[in-house]
Amino acid sequence: GLFFGLTEKLQEVFKKLRNKGKLTEEDVNAALREIRLALLEADVNYKVVKDFIARIKERAVGQEVIQSLSPAHQVVKIVRDELVSLMGGQSARLNLAPKPPTVVMLVGLQGSGKTTTAAKLALSLKKQGRRPLLVAADVYRPAAVKQLQVLGEQIQVPVWSRPGNPVEIAASAMHEANHKGYDVVIIDTAGRLHINEELMQELEEIKARVKPHEVLLVVDAMTGQDAVTVAETFHQRLGLDGVVLTKLDGDTRGGAALSIRAVTGCPIKFVGVGEKLDMLEPFHPDRMADRILGMGDVLTLIEKAQSTIDAEQAAAMQKRLLSDDFNLEDFLEHLRQFRKMGPLEHILSLLPGFGGVKKLKEELQFDEKELIRVEAIINSMTPEERRHPEIIDGSRKRRIARGSGTTVQDVNRLLKQFEQTKKLIRQFMGSKQLRKKRFPNLK
Ligand code: GDP
Repeated sequence: GLFFGLTEKLQEVFKKLRNKGKLTEEDVNAALREIRLALLEADVNYKVVKDFIARIKERAVGQEVIQSLSPAHQVVKIVRDELVSLMGGQSARLNLAPKPPTVVMLVGLQGSGKTTTAAKLALSLKKQGRRPLLVAADVYRPAAVKQLQVLGEQIQVPVWSRPGNPVEIAASAMHEANHKGYDVVIIDTAGRLHINEELMQELEEIKARVKPHEVLLVVDAMTGQDAVTVAETFHQRLGLDGVVLTKLDGDTRGGAALSIRAVTGCPIKFVGVGEKLDMLEPFHPDRMADRILGMGDVLTLIEKAQSTIDAEQAAAMQKRLLSDDFNLEDFLEHLRQFRKMGPLEHILSLLPGFGGVKKLKEELQFDEKELIRVEAIINSMTPEERRHPEIIDGSRKRRIARGSGTTVQDVNRLLKQFEQTKKLIRQFMGSKQLRKKRFPNLK
């Protein structure tokens, strides 16, 4: 899950602050010590943590915060702001060439997810109406060329490959693109297990020859501080335009995501959140900060919904989700839609309050079988019960369990999950005002 452990710890710190009401300088300092530890345990670079805490301290221990009406809230806001700026503040976009083709050169160590990312990027550009060409410039591993060809076939994007050295292959791909009108050339270069001189020289030569608009380093988020060191070395040698952080769907602690920008100065431009080819997302520092703090990421969720389901359906779902009489029928519809969007765990981690992955795993494991059971239970209810679950008493529960071939415990569990979801949505939506601000196109 995303930022394993870190979210829970930060939420714990903030809860303590909130419970105190009025804060003293010592309270804030104690909280900062815990935040510092949580970040270090999440494998965030030592120096980054030190500067980060110092900046928060400077802003948070002043009289202004302590004497404000909601000091705990102020501290959370400061931490959030600083997290956003740590990750680069603004979202960074892909540099597109003023005159096509745009050349994107992907570099990185073996196993980082480079080839997969090349295909993901091609697919996302294709969906935006561009005509990408993939280039197999990893000639040392024949399997790498084959892998790119297979991926290219899946997404219906042509793959340029030929015998010869990588510099020549890249150069001939440029010729092909100009000739056939491809507007983005994505070069998958060779990786190595470790950084070595030979690799760096080869990449420098390719760069000098094709003059890419964008050199993107692909690193594996699961490798934590090693990813940061790799990024530093590649940046010094090649000059990177951005980083793609892969495997953010794994049990990463967050160290790489939080350190890379601060250590190297290079922005993270995309994150990989799964093996499937549509699982690449643009990186937004503000949304990521919200996820780290367990505030969820409803915007990404809704964008995802919109790209998976048609717009009308998505708007309807959005509306129901945010309406005050969200009921069990909506809940079921909801679970079905979610399943279309990808692994439930990832989707749910985008929802506010679901940041605490451990809790999520215990309480909201919906696998395929579970979904069938949930469906059976809801189908055994009367329309009245679906719309007003509060009327479901003991005898109704027994009838529903019998009717759906489940147990009363199953029914109880479902009702609890439903209540939790509803509560979380309420919490997040808050006032009507906030609702208008976040979803301006919603009535
Ligand atoms: P390369 O050697 O750098 O080209 O790496 P590959 O593209 O072959 O990827 C190595 C492995 O990581 C493959 O099994 C990929 O499916 C997997 N992978 C790549 N990106 C992601 C990601 O974002 N999430 C997950 N879970 N796996 C990924």
